Amino acid sequence: MRVKFIGVGEAFDENYTNTSLLVRTERDGKSVAVLMDCGFTAPPGVWRDCPDPDGLDAVWISHFHGDHFFGLPALLTRYWETKRAKPLIIVSQEGVEEVVAQALRLAYPAILEKLPFDLRFETLEPGTSADIAGLAWKSALNGHGQRDLAVRLSDGEKTVFYSGDGRATEETLSLASGSDLIAHEAFLLDRDMPGHGSIMQSIDFAARAKARMLALVHIARHERRERRKQILQALDSVTGLRAFMPEPGFEVEL
Ligand SMILES: [Zn+2]
Ligand SMILES: [Zn+2]
Repeated sequence: MRVKFIGVGEAFDENYTNTSLLVRTERDGKSVAVLMDCGFTAPPGVWRDCPDPDGLDAVWISHFHGDHFFGLPALLTRYWETKRAKPLIIVSQEGVEEVVAQALRLAYPAILEKLPFDLRFETLEPGTSADIAGLAWKSALNGHGQRDLAVRLSDGEKTVFYSGDGRATEETLSLASGSDLIAHEAFLLDRDMPGHGSIMQSIDFAARAKARMLALVHIARHERRERRKQILQALDSVTGLRAFMPEPGFEVEL
């Protein structure tokens, strides 16, 4: 399993694309690609890294803030232009179909009816598990201002956990347990902010989950700029797992 960081930014960063991860693996000899979150600035990175219109199998949406799903109208409309043929599955919490349909209608009226491929929706509520695009999926409720689900994706050998936005909970810790990679929202280095994770909390979370790797994403633009030295020092002092702050385009093999 490989995970590419299409974007690692928060909502309104002038330099960093919204956090979006491209997970690629194989299942039964077939390649599988899943995009995790697609905010308003994510699509150009997806088009660069995954130019084949049939390249993606599924898109996970952690919650319905614009920096996590407002890229869908552009992504799907370009698939109309480029004549995608393969079904695409959008996986998220309950209500996803209505919310995505609204966004599409506002952006490009009637595009939903014109799509030349089958757009499917799957809900993945906490407490359930699903087999989607050949992978095993589970979710848990995170602590964010808007209802956000963390997700765990496994190909039978490797596992990736992605928090979406928000502070860790007992449920997300249990979901993340034993993951090869945890990608966690970490808005600030060490200060507490309601509805958000921090770098120090994420390091503790990954250690308690006994993860092999921790990628810190969605770091506040001012924190990334003004506290870079302290962040790198905090990462340097981590033992027992590999903790890093990926740049856009970075890819890690699990
Ligand atoms: Zn966000
Ligand atoms: Zn959010």
